[in-house]
Amino acid sequence: MPNTSNNTHKTSASALRQLQEIDKSTVWHPYASIGQVDSPENYIVESADGAYLQLAQHGPVIDGMSSWWCAMHGYNHPQLNQAVVQQLSKMSHVMFGGLSHEPGIRLAQRLQEITPEGLNKVFFSDSGSVAVEVAIKMALQYWHSQGQSQKHKMLSLMNGYHGDTFGAMSVCDPINGMHHIFANSMPKHIFADAPPQGLTAELDPQYIAALRQTFEQHHQDLAALILEPVVQGAGGMRFYAPAYLKVLKQLCEEFDVLFIADEIATGFGRTGKLFACEHADISPDIMCLGKALTGGYMTLAATLCNDRVADGICSGEAGVFMHGPTFMGNPLACATALASIELLLTNDQASSNKKTPAEKDLPWKDNITAIEAQLTQGLAPLNHSDNVAEVRIMGAIAVVEMKEAPDKEILQAKLIEHGVWLRPFGKLVYAMPPFICSPGEIATLCNAMVIALKDSRL
Ligand code: PMP
Repeated sequence: MPNTSNNTHKTSASALRQLQEIDKSTVWHPYASIGQVDSPENYIVESADGAYLQLAQHGPVIDGMSSWWCAMHGYNHPQLNQAVVQQLSKMSHVMFGGLSHEPGIRLAQRLQEITPEGLNKVFFSDSGSVAVEVAIKMALQYWHSQGQSQKHKMLSLMNGYHGDTFGAMSVCDPINGMHHIFANSMPKHIFADAPPQGLTAELDPQYIAALRQTFEQHHQDLAALILEPVVQGAGGMRFYAPAYLKVLKQLCEEFDVLFIADEIATGFGRTGKLFACEHADISPDIMCLGKALTGGYMTLAATLCNDRVADGICSGEAGVFMHGPTFMGNPLACATALASIELLLTNDQASSNKKTPAEKDLPWKDNITAIEAQLTQGLAPLNHSDNVAEVRIMGAIAVVEMKEAPDKEILQAKLIEHGVWLRPFGKLVYAMPPFICSPGEIATLCNAMVIALKDSRL
């Protein structure tokens, strides 16, 4: 249960009403309309602790979303709090142009150590979408520096999602991304079908032949392939077999196309491996990280690349990489990210006698395996529900795909009644709980989903 000091309703009824009124009239929320009389009220979070959000309207609920994949250690974590406070007493921010600092340097070194082999260079930015913009820019600048500026298109996958800024949006699934609204202002890229669904699905030769054809047809124009490895998130919560990643990597090598892995959602253990690329034992040329990088404490992203890409860019006409956000390498965020990574990788080690680095990694992996097993068991009653199309689980991700899209507000209210916060999306009702959830908390999450989704009124 949450820290009791956070566990009381602090907002008075009149203050809450006032906050809600201002929220409704003035604050524009993600993917939402504003100022409409009939738009739903947002739940107001007063505080958060452990796996719980303290909702002003309802009291504590388990955050089954980890605040959109971020808060892997839960909220108000003493070690992360301490990292913030310690760094705050030194400096919260300084520019990164011509200046550097220990949190940034140490974080870059740590990311180089823990990411797949070869990703030796680290470029910090402020959000996942910007990390994707940076990745695209790196690929374009690389080919420009090689005297091949005709290689200026990206290859992306249907059902892919990479962010909401223009470059990132241009490589999102054109239908989910509502490309038609922005069609006149967006670069046009190439899209291939997403790999068939199923983590253990056999490779489909027809699909691979179609992929090969796409590479044959477009490789002279292609700077890079960009994809979310194994789990396609916001574009459909689809899982595909890691073997397809290997095939796509081989095609990139054969046709001289760079490979960008967007691990913004999948990074830091969520799928059961530290990075989803590890399921296929591949190393991308460029990798994007964000979301759980700071354990959800603040916004920070990183784009890593290998020496080939970095050397190519720096030996080119410009000689430098043309990007530099104001809040690049923010020290508070870097210090928190370092603490979050240490927490993930060294958790429980004090009480463990294990010696080798691989064995030392076991506690967090064991934890994800245990969450996966519990989600599988806990959501099993939905497998045979008439209104459920499929239940799929990978690592600490659970997706229930409904046959029809449920009424989001009714479903959310029902889940909250049973102590859980989720944000359903169309037919998808999914959860990616904080890794610190106890078995009891995961059980509460599963029970709430089962009860709410079996409700015939949805
Ligand atoms: N890539 C992926 C795979 C994502 O899931 C997201 C965010 N949902 C982004 C990029 C964009 O990140 P941000 O929202 O931090 O800009």
